[in-house]
Amino acid sequence: MSSQIYNCDSCDKIYSSYMGLWKHKKSIHKKIEVINDEQEQKDEMKKHICKYCTKEFGDRTARWRHEKKYCKLNSPEITVKILIVIIQIVIILSIAIIQLLIAV
Ligand SMILES: [Zn+2]
Ligand SMILES: [Zn+2]
Repeated sequence: MSSQIYNCDSCDKIYSSYMGLWKHKKSIHKKIEVINDEQEQKDEMKKHICKYCTKEFGDRTARWRHEKKYCKLNSPEITVKILIVIIQIVIILSIAIIQLLIAV
């Protein structure tokens, strides 16, 4: 089993023992992971934008509440569907009115 090699999945370092790799990961990559987490959190703080109306919010909960309460119900898809229905009704009414006017 002495030929067994352990290579780090985060960089290309190769170790002959699991212990060596573990120590390497613990000392080198632990710090990197923490930095990445902080970076992600910062990014996360910036983006609390409603996916429906692109309104910005100070925190995730506020955005979530807004999305759930207002924008999920008024999402563009639904608005378009309602608009199409309204337009159809207007057209039908217009035709009916024109037919009435012609009849008179
Ligand atoms: Zn590594
Ligand atoms: Zn919104």
